[in-house]
Amino acid sequence: MSRKHRLLCTVFPVALLVLPFFVGAIPVESPSNEDPEAENPVSRFRKYLSINTAHPNPDYSVAVSFLRSLAESLPLHTRVFEFVPNKPVLLLIWEGSDPSLPSVLLNSHMDSVPAEPSKWTFDPFSAVRTSDGKIFARGAQDDKCIGIQYIEAIRNLWKKGFTPLRTLIVSYVPDEEIGGLDGVTKFVASKEFEELNVGFMLDEGQASTTDEFRVFYSDRTPWDLIIKAQGAPGHGSKMYDNSAMENLIKSMEIISKFRETQFDKVKAGVAVYSEVISVNPVYMKAGTPSPSGFVMNLQPSEAEAGFNIRLPPTAEPHALKMRIADEWAPTIRNMSYQIIEKGPFRDFMGRPLMTSTDDSNPWWSTFKEAIEATGGRLAKPEILASTTDSRYFRQKGIPALGFSPMTNTPILLHEHNEFLEDTVFLRGIEVYESIIHSLCSHLEDPHGKQEQ
Ligand SMILES: [Zn+2]
Repeated sequence: MSRKHRLLCTVFPVALLVLPFFVGAIPVESPSNEDPEAENPVSRFRKYLSINTAHPNPDYSVAVSFLRSLAESLPLHTRVFEFVPNKPVLLLIWEGSDPSLPSVLLNSHMDSVPAEPSKWTFDPFSAVRTSDGKIFARGAQDDKCIGIQYIEAIRNLWKKGFTPLRTLIVSYVPDEEIGGLDGVTKFVASKEFEELNVGFMLDEGQASTTDEFRVFYSDRTPWDLIIKAQGAPGHGSKMYDNSAMENLIKSMEIISKFRETQFDKVKAGVAVYSEVISVNPVYMKAGTPSPSGFVMNLQPSEAEAGFNIRLPPTAEPHALKMRIADEWAPTIRNMSYQIIEKGPFRDFMGRPLMTSTDDSNPWWSTFKEAIEATGGRLAKPEILASTTDSRYFRQKGIPALGFSPMTNTPILLHEHNEFLEDTVFLRGIEVYESIIHSLCSHLEDPHGKQEQ
């Protein structure tokens, strides 16, 4: 019996004794004790959450079957592409009465980051709902909520007799959380995507802690930077110039100073996090290993460090590359470097990957008015500090906004005990009803006005 198994055998009976008291303190509902006849938007959301699509082994086939089953009773036709085996892209299509118009795309990803069950109050894939309406599950905020809200909004609009003028496409993609290379990247590069003639798209956003909805018009672009220093090895007692460690430490100091200048702008309130270039050290690797740790009387001949860099769309990537070459890893200090650019920085026309959030963009005006029509308010549009799949759509020149309708909600994506309140989830469906209604009725006349 492995140590892990022995540990489980010891812990498990204790957990069984403790669990009833614990659960007694927080009344919960689990999918298993729910009336199977009681099909409703929240139960469907919880079912989707209970499908484990966390990396490293996301169960995409079960997720696709479930989502297809939801579409069956609706006026939607489905298409599934596998640009990469076992990495399905699912489309639900609501044909518009004028298919010649550019379509509207609503995107979400099926996968999620892993969860550590031992650090959660409830199992992250049981989708437990507490008596105060909180639904706990990995993916509750990021981003299975929108995946179900899209379908529920379509269901409600259809029941009310609405028919879209433009075609509406809902896409479910794999692998967003690991960079989208086998997911959206392949999808947007396909001829099938071209044929969809997408005019505007919405993708995931983030929760808002206030009663204003957040909306994102751009993402920051990630770069991985690895810098390596080389130098003559020497005795631990010897003072000499250009050792690998000395050279790496000099670079670390210079990079730290740059990081400080960026962070100071945030601290002074002249920029928000997502508007500056962030550079954060993520690893350092040096030293000569010995059986008891490291050799202490030898200065090593190699040293290395890694950084996570995020560039806002307004940054000048060429200038940063020059800085890296001249100051952060110069050959005159025996340094070398590697930049791994993760995703596009400009669109196909060489423009920054930003979607206009003013009246020059009729999609924006329609989107904003649709939210206001439900009594909602939008916060000042933001750049997302991290990344989503929407950058790949912006790269094609398609206006794209990041939006997940969650107000008065703590931001818990990728954290332990991720949850979403049922009332917030249900409110989001109403918001999407209004958005879909407006965007799919939207006609732009040559003077920039819209007819409904
Ligand atoms: Zn996400």
